[in-house]
Amino acid sequence: MSEPVLAVDIGGTKILVGLVAAGGSVMAQRQAPTPAREGAEAIIATVAALAAQLLATAPGVRRCGVGTAGVVGENGEITSATDHIAAWAGTELSRRLTDVLRLPTRVLNDVQAAGLAESRLGAARGKRSALVLALGTGIGGAIVRDGVVVRGATGIAGSIGHHLSPLRQGRVCACGAVDHLEAYASGTGMQNEYERRTGRALLLREIAALAAAGDAVANAVIVEAAEVLGAVIGSANNLIDADVIVVGGGVAELGEVLLAPARAAAVREALGASKHTPIVPAALGPMACLIGAALLAFDAS
Ligand SMILES: [Zn+2]
Repeated sequence: MSEPVLAVDIGGTKILVGLVAAGGSVMAQRQAPTPAREGAEAIIATVAALAAQLLATAPGVRRCGVGTAGVVGENGEITSATDHIAAWAGTELSRRLTDVLRLPTRVLNDVQAAGLAESRLGAARGKRSALVLALGTGIGGAIVRDGVVVRGATGIAGSIGHHLSPLRQGRVCACGAVDHLEAYASGTGMQNEYERRTGRALLLREIAALAAAGDAVANAVIVEAAEVLGAVIGSANNLIDADVIVVGGGVAELGEVLLAPARAAAVREALGASKHTPIVPAALGPMACLIGAALLAFDAS
């Protein structure tokens, strides 16, 4: 199929809509803030308005793929959501967008969509299986095997952010449970811990700059979070046994400061030959979800 598809990335803060070609190149894009407090119909209207601008220039588009915040059910409906979008759970997103856009629309969780893109076109290209993490204000994950996202029975497979942390300090996770990985190794987790130790509320990039300048507390906060992250990656991969582990998202831009201690901790937990499973940075950056959403649409054609 030579025509591009319409691809949509619905996040907690912004909505991105693009025209994406079969090889994964983004030909055009529009974005707008997510009207998160106004609920599902406002979000659907925003997607429709951005899509209309793009579809006016590309009359041959026949399909749409979506990566969205929230857990996505079998029929493209949002079954639960922790991303602060009002009344997002319960939205029959695939059905509503198919109606509004007048295009057959498939929906996947945003991190699973990014994982699909990294698996086929990014850091895990050529590998049979991958565990892909997205580290940001929260932590998402996806398992991709033979070019297909492993959804699991209820759609949550790969949600490594909600794996138990080996450090048990009673921190509450965004999902409501206690001591999940996300409460320790997400950007929010590191910011909270730095504030707890110093009384100063700084952004992660400010903490990282302090660490780079030799600040011992800032460095300890990042290294300890990285060690928790690595321990969970190593132990979770004993269940999955992926060919490669890909770490992406804004927090992963810390680079080796984060990845080096994470790798060392992962090796301590990993079994047998999986001690050598590579842990690598993501390759597609912030466009990964949009590209994965497009792949989902192309798969349907
Ligand atoms: Zn959790």
